[in-house]
Amino acid sequence: MTRIAVLGSTNMDLVAYTARAPERGETVTGREFRTIPGGKGANQAVAAARAGGEVAMIGAVGDDAYGAQLRDGLEHAGVDTDLLHTAEGPSGTAHIVVDDSGANAIVVIPGANGVVTALGPGEIAAIAAADLLLMQLELPLSAVVEGARAARAQGVRTILTPSPVQPLPDELWDHIDLLIPNEHEAAELSGQAEPHAAAQILLRQVPEVIITLGAKGSLYAARGGEPVLFAAPEVQAVDTTGAGDTFVGALAVALGEGRPVAKALAFASSAAALCVQKPGASTSMPYRSEIEADAV
Ligand code: ATP
Repeated sequence: MTRIAVLGSTNMDLVAYTARAPERGETVTGREFRTIPGGKGANQAVAAARAGGEVAMIGAVGDDAYGAQLRDGLEHAGVDTDLLHTAEGPSGTAHIVVDDSGANAIVVIPGANGVVTALGPGEIAAIAAADLLLMQLELPLSAVVEGARAARAQGVRTILTPSPVQPLPDELWDHIDLLIPNEHEAAELSGQAEPHAAAQILLRQVPEVIITLGAKGSLYAARGGEPVLFAAPEVQAVDTTGAGDTFVGALAVALGEGRPVAKALAFASSAAALCVQKPGASTSMPYRSEIEADAV
C-alpha cells in the first residue's frame, strides 16, 4: 500500500446558494445552505485514501464543532488523523456564495490552519515514513517549506499543488519533485499562457510537471523528454469541484505503487472524471474499485 503524508489545510465550506449574489451593502434571500468538508489538504487526503492509499493527515482543526466534524469525516474516509492537531479557536472556513449561473465568490478564513507554522518531531517522523508527501499552499509557507525539506532529506517524493497561487521561495522550488498546477496556476507561475511553453519554464525549477487542463486532460513534462498530452475521458460533467484534488490524490497512490507515469495518469484521469460526474467535492470522490473498473 502506498504510504502518503498530506501536509495541508482542513476547512469547512459554508455554501449559500442564491439566484443572484448580493451587491455591496445589499441583502438577498438565498435558496439553500450547506456545510461541506473541504480544504485542499483534506480533499487530497480523502481522494488518496479512497483510491487505496494509506494516508496520514498533518495539519490542524479548531476546537469548535466544525473541527470535530472535519476530523470525523477524515477518519470515516480511513485517513489517520493522529497528527491533525486541535488548536484553540475556530477551524478554517470558506464562505462561499454560489449564484444560479454557477459563479461563486469566496472568503477563506484560515483559522486553525494558520497556526501550523512549524512541524514537530511527530510530523517529521510521519513524513519520513511516507512514500510521498502531498502539499498545497493553504498552510503557512514556513510549514510547507519545512515539510518539503524534511521529505527531501529522507528521499520521500514531494508533490506540490501550487494553490492558492503565489510566488514561491527558492527553498521550496528546490525541494519539489513534481509540481501539479492547473492551467491558470501554471500561467501565473511561468508568465506563459500556453501550457507547453509554461511547462518548459517550470521545468527550470522542478524536474517534473503535470499541468491539469480540465476537460482537455493533462500535460506531463519532464526534464530531457518531450511533453505528452493525456486526454481526459469524455464524460458529462455536473460539478467539477474537487476534480484537481481527486486527480492528485489518485495519482499519488498510483505513482507510489510504482506504476509508470502513463498508467498513473490514466488512473488519476479516471478518478477525476468519475468525480466530475457527481455533485460535491469529497463526497463525489471515487473508491479504488470504481476507478479500476473504469481505468483502461
Ligand atoms: P478544481 O479546482 O475544480 O478542483 P482544478 O482547476 O484544480 O479543478 P482541472 O484542471 O479543472 O483542475 O481538473 C483536474 C483534472 O480533472 C483534469 O486534468 C481532468 O483529468 C479532470 N477533469 C476536470 N474536468 C473534467 C471534465 N469536464 N471531464 C473529464 N475530466 C475532467
